[in-house]
Amino acid sequence: MVELLQLNPQFRGIGFTSQRTRNRMIERLVEQGITNNKVLETLRNLPRHLFVDEALSHRAYEDTALPIGLGQTLSQPYIVARMTELLLEKNPNKVLEIGTGSGYQCAVLGCLVQEVWSVERLEPLLEKARQRVKDLKLNNIKLRHADGNFGLATAAPFDAILVTAAPNEVPNSLFEQLAEGGRLIIPVGKEQQMLSVFDKEEGQMIQTNIEPVRFVPLLSGANK
Ligand code: SAH
Repeated sequence: MVELLQLNPQFRGIGFTSQRTRNRMIERLVEQGITNNKVLETLRNLPRHLFVDEALSHRAYEDTALPIGLGQTLSQPYIVARMTELLLEKNPNKVLEIGTGSGYQCAVLGCLVQEVWSVERLEPLLEKARQRVKDLKLNNIKLRHADGNFGLATAAPFDAILVTAAPNEVPNSLFEQLAEGGRLIIPVGKEQQMLSVFDKEEGQMIQTNIEPVRFVPLLSGANK
């Protein structure tokens, strides 16, 4: 939640990145159409450079996706902001992210939502993310090593599910684990993907297409 930012003084001025660089990122997000102030303030305060390798940290506030190892990428700030904005429209208390990666998206969610779960299939990435989330004292985030194609049955239902890797088709378990009135935000498709929103209303999934996007694929199985 937002108060967490205030409770954690280490969020402010952390590392060498100047506040100006971060402010510039926020100005760009506003130009790109992001309007939710809570999202903008969270992205301004959260040290994005701590979620990439040191050699890349000088590029962390650029409007670009960045490699995080093992062929995976941290999405550009605009996509993180857009997906988070779509999620907050439903005022969720409990959310699930599929594809923890660097941990940045789930840290953003941890600043804005009461209870955050995130699953990742690649254990080395998960362990790095775990350390980052711990260092930032985001105690409301729980990370699990699992195949997100099956959601996270033990913690379901969720008010919102946000998927940061693209399946060809939406896995059924994600629909099933969504609470009534909940929202699933997911990129769908093979090469040309569509960022899609599914709202669960009276047991039915109502789909809205948002915009074309490019994500790494949602793979099968949980590997070491
Ligand atoms: N949200 C991440 C972006 C990660 S990229 C961040 O903020 O950094 C997508 C991630 O999804 C990768 O780390 C990849 O390993 C993971 N992934 C792909 N298929 C998966 C699956 N079936 N279950 C869980 N994670 C998966």
